[in-house]
Amino acid sequence: MLIPTWLSSAPALGEVLLLIKATNTKRKKLVIGNWKMHGDRQFNATLLSDILTRWNSENQVETVICPPYPYFQQVIELIGASPLVMGAQTISEHDSGAFTGEISGQMLSDWQCRYVIVGHNERRRMQHESDADVALKFLAVQRAGLIPVLCIGESLEQRESGNALEVIGAQLGHVINAAGIAAFENAVVAYEPVWAVGTGKTATPEQAQEVHAFIRSRLGSVSPRILYGGSVKAHNAAQLFQMPDIDGALLGGASLVAEEFVAICNAAN
Ligand code: PEP
Repeated sequence: MLIPTWLSSAPALGEVLLLIKATNTKRKKLVIGNWKMHGDRQFNATLLSDILTRWNSENQVETVICPPYPYFQQVIELIGASPLVMGAQTISEHDSGAFTGEISGQMLSDWQCRYVIVGHNERRRMQHESDADVALKFLAVQRAGLIPVLCIGESLEQRESGNALEVIGAQLGHVINAAGIAAFENAVVAYEPVWAVGTGKTATPEQAQEVHAFIRSRLGSVSPRILYGGSVKAHNAAQLFQMPDIDGALLGGASLVAEEFVAICNAAN
């Protein structure tokens, strides 16, 4: 990191506080809605129109929608010049070639995606994506000039046996080894305890904060945004967002309900 000249001699406390504030400002709150394999043309049009009608124009939160690939064109047209941006739910680790059914980073970039989720637990479990696969996808996202949203999180069994931080550290470690810590300057990490995703059970703000602080400590002086994901709803979002290391949320179910989605974005503001 470049040290500003005003910090090269012994800094006064006020100067250090200014630097901390600058770092925090960079961590603008971020809410990402992962539609998974939900929606159709009619549903998407109604949902986006409801979200944009309810949108608070003062809201400063960065907001991303990740629709299924066939609806990219529709979503890009509907979000238009609104504050919403588009992301993707996964990516191929390859840049091009004979990989039937896969979508490359360049294609996502052509479609005006800005963020790409990698390592979602549903893909780790159901598509058998390993930590090594996830690391390759993380690299592919960055090669295309896009921002990876790296999902990591422990299962219920791993939490109950006291291994949550070890598991999360190992998942993160694979990507750090492949990409280097500096790569996280342009990345987002999403802590998603598997037991909380789509189950209605949410980690308490304290449980989530403990893991977020651990992730941040593993990344040293690089301080990416770290989102919490796992049954975030309008009624529990504000408490989670008050924690010092929680920079927003990755949403599944709540991203499909306009009222919930906008209320969560308002809570992040
Ligand atoms: C998710 O799938 O990433 C997720 C957080 O889902 P839900 O909000 O429904 O728990």
